[in-house]
Amino acid sequence: MKLPKGCTLVVASHNKGKVREIIDLLAPFGIAVKGAGELGLAEPEETGTTFAENAILKARAAALATKAYALADDSGLSVAALGGSPGIYSARWAGEGRDFSVAMDKIKRLFDELKLSNYAAKFVCSLALCDPQGNVNVYEGDVHGHLEFPPRGKNGFGYDPIFVANGMKQTFGEIDPTEKHAISHRAKAFEKFAKAVLA
Ligand code: IMP
Repeated sequence: MKLPKGCTLVVASHNKGKVREIIDLLAPFGIAVKGAGELGLAEPEETGTTFAENAILKARAAALATKAYALADDSGLSVAALGGSPGIYSARWAGEGRDFSVAMDKIKRLFDELKLSNYAAKFVCSLALCDPQGNVNVYEGDVHGHLEFPPRGKNGFGYDPIFVANGMKQTFGEIDPTEKHAISHRAKAFEKFAKAVLA
């Protein structure tokens, strides 16, 4: 699938942090981006059992509703000692109020209660691109690292303040966004997306 030059891409996400990162990542390609929130699109229920399945259902719902190309990102934090949790439930661990200090506290509490010592974790990103007819392609990326507590840094979003990528000392919440964009799970999925669909 190739994205037609000059087309508008609907980003099927209501997460402002994600939409901002996607706009940054697409900036070099001259693609106009509209967020699902600003278009007033409903958020479909994430009933998939994998990141890819959830990305596909979000992209398809937005593409069919707008008759445009739509891109959805389903992503999250996978903690080895917690059997991959919070995983596809990463947003839901923050509760109705989407308060990630609650979700980060929950992880810390589980580590303490279960006396866990393996802090290995990874961020995973599945990107699904859907054309106006409902055809979908998926691109995936991940970044490995470990967790550190207490949370540090005000950049990024979600679990960034507790995640340190391999080879780094600062959390994703402390590093500059351009540094995150060079190595993140989303950046890697975007690289594959860009190679495949952007001229
Ligand atoms: P969803 O893909 O919208 O269901 O939500 C994914 C959740 O995973 C986000 O709300 C964040 O909590 C978390 N997440 C995904 N990517 C990142 C990231 O780059 N940094 C921090 N947290 C992330």
